Amino acid sequence: MIRRERLRLELPAVIALGSNLGDREATLRDAVREINALDGVVVTAASDIVQTPAWKIEGVDEEAPAYLNAVITVRSALDPEALLDALNAIENEHGRVRTERWGDRTLDLDIISYAAQQSSTDRLTLPHPRAAVRGFVLAPWLQIEPDAELPGLGRIDTLLAQTSDDVRPYAAEALL
Ligand code: ATP
Ligand code: CA
Ligand code: CA
Repeated sequence: MIRRERLRLELPAVIALGSNLGDREATLRDAVREINALDGVVVTAASDIVQTPAWKIEGVDEEAPAYLNAVITVRSALDPEALLDALNAIENEHGRVRTERWGDRTLDLDIISYAAQQSSTDRLTLPHPRAAVRGFVLAPWLQIEPDAELPGLGRIDTLLAQTSDDVRPYAAEALL
């Protein structure tokens, strides 16, 4: 018998996780487990959790609850749109409500890159259009993939050196 699932093409992707409402650490932990449990997705590495002040339209908001962020790498048999659907469903299960742009949220899951794909539709831009300037994405990603590049934009260590985000360590057990 041919096991069809073994023949599915799996491609590497990078996902950023963020939370600044509720039990932020538990939410990130649940999200990693739930992503790993998706049919066709395997989590291959997880960064440490980092802590960053919240950004609003006006800039850093020290009054808003700080973000916990992490980055995971996966291998995905889901195409990018299907992966985004699955990630949106996980966000919704965690009570994500979209009101103001960059508003406080229980869980945000962004696809940072998907293989070497560079593309843009109404729903999905790859690589993520703001990842290259976000220390809270690049710093944890660099921990797990020191030689990674953002497709079309260059090495993430070089990009990280050009950011000024205040990314702080956060003491927690490993996510994976
Ligand atoms: P930002 O995109 O600046 O990180 P955000 O994560 O708060 O902001 P959301 O409200 O979560 O923004 O998402 C807005 C829209 O971005 C979503 O409806 C989704 O379709 C779209 N989107 C485009 N590219 C991506 C991507 N690479 N990963 C996740 N969502 C994306
Ligand atoms: Ca985001
Ligand atoms: Ca998002």
